[in-house]
Amino acid sequence: MAQKLLTTVVHAIDTGIFIFLTEMHKMKINKNFIGGKWVLGEKYIDNINPSDINDNIGFYTQADIDQLELALDTAKTAQKQWAKVGLEKRYDILSKIGHELINESSRIGTILSREEGKTLAEGKGEVYRSGQFFTYYAAEVLRQKGETFASVRENIDIGIYREPLGVVAVISPWNFPMATAAWKIAPALAFGNSVLWKPANLTPASAIALTEIIAKQNVPEGLFQLIMGSGSELGDALVRNPKVDGISFTGSLDVGQKILVEASKNMTKIQMEMGSKNALVVSEDADIDIAVDASVIGAFGGTGQKCTASSRIVVDERVYDEFVEKFVSATSDLRVGNALCEDTQIGPVVSQTQLQSNLDYIKLGVYEGAELACGGKQLSLLSDGYYQSPAVFLKTNNTMQINREEMFAPIACVMKSGSHDESLAIVNDTSFGLMSGIITKSLARAEHFRKEAKTGCVMVNLPTAGTDYHVPFGGRGSSSFGSREQGQYAQEFYTSLKTVYKFSGVAES
Ligand code: NDP
Repeated sequence: MAQKLLTTVVHAIDTGIFIFLTEMHKMKINKNFIGGKWVLGEKYIDNINPSDINDNIGFYTQADIDQLELALDTAKTAQKQWAKVGLEKRYDILSKIGHELINESSRIGTILSREEGKTLAEGKGEVYRSGQFFTYYAAEVLRQKGETFASVRENIDIGIYREPLGVVAVISPWNFPMATAAWKIAPALAFGNSVLWKPANLTPASAIALTEIIAKQNVPEGLFQLIMGSGSELGDALVRNPKVDGISFTGSLDVGQKILVEASKNMTKIQMEMGSKNALVVSEDADIDIAVDASVIGAFGGTGQKCTASSRIVVDERVYDEFVEKFVSATSDLRVGNALCEDTQIGPVVSQTQLQSNLDYIKLGVYEGAELACGGKQLSLLSDGYYQSPAVFLKTNNTMQINREEMFAPIACVMKSGSHDESLAIVNDTSFGLMSGIITKSLARAEHFRKEAKTGCVMVNLPTAGTDYHVPFGGRGSSSFGSREQGQYAQEFYTSLKTVYKFSGVAES
């Protein structure tokens, strides 16, 4: 108890939030799930609703290093048991998790929107999609197969087997707090691995909601474990630990680069999805209404906090004026509001730090000579949250910092282009390479774009954001590292190949 009081005092001082110690016994702290049990760590954090900073969603424990070690040891034992479990049982469990997420998407989606700030439709849709990752990988459980080869030598057969990787660390970001984790956890379990999940500290409620569903399943204790804690401490200790067989990370480029260095010291297998600077091209023959819709959805969906966001819009000069007029008008009409209000089209940004970063980018854009056509202002609404009006910059060029750095913000930068080739060159002039898109009526131009765009995904007459769950997702350049996520391609990361040579002896005649 003395330790708990001390921690509370430290926490109160750290965060500036004064908590009456006499109220302590009433306070519920959400726990980590380690070794099949819900357990407290020594410290905790609180979770503030970005739509209303007076709404504290709850308190969430933080795992310490001893708990991490225990979790890793337990995960190793559990993985061995899980690898022996029949496929039908694995199928059933993943299927149950998926269906419960789908059935509960409205309730859990509301929790997700409350803590992340995306609209209710987006929050519920994300939970539903998370369920689909589990039902999809439930089906993949039954499709695991190997290969046989004839040998170049006599009387030898060769078999290629896939085996589980082992203990997988899943590190996920706040912007898709459940879907990103689901598209890693579901294949990891499907292919026979155990999982330690470190979610983003900004969105722990979604992590608890998913864990509660997984915790109900009849699986070995420690097969799936939730370890909440800060990225720079717990996350760092996790990626440095040699007991981890694989790390699947989604987050920023800076953190990804640090993790890569640490993982390389232990030669830990790694897969990473990081930042982006996606461009959408509006061709001279584009249907302008489709172009405007795709740009608005692509640039401002999820408050622009998506790795698939269209942050650069490259418009042919022949349709520039018409496009810009309609795009700026549609952007100005978007309703910014509390994520939990049904008619909100754009929720708040996730945190004060993110809001300040966005406002700094607005200042930078103006300083660089771009014209701010609309938005870019902090908004005071009925509830006190991190609201910003969606911004459109005109007269930008691809050398400006606002067109080179990932802002992760509701800010779109429009560039004018003289030709298809120039547009394509702008699309590819970036260190990232996740998404690109083109709006055109020409099949030939779309095909040319598809072949020449140096990105992992290409969209034709669609927003850059919005992907399916059964096909690979990932990028090139600084956007991704390692093998692709999602679909059957996920098995490249979550399994290890074994080539077996069998000498059958010389047959007696
Ligand atoms: P961060 O990189 O800050 O954090 C991602 C995760 O890593 C969090 O769980 C974080 O924990 C943890 N972490 C932080 N530092 C370390 C460390 N040193 N070692 C191990 N783990 C660490 O990203 P954000 O959460 O801010 O997410 C936004 C970023 O994610 C954007 O750059 C975006 O592009 C990218 N993203 C990419 C996607 C893709 O598929 N390409 C999809 C979605 C997002 P903590 O929260 O405690 O800091």
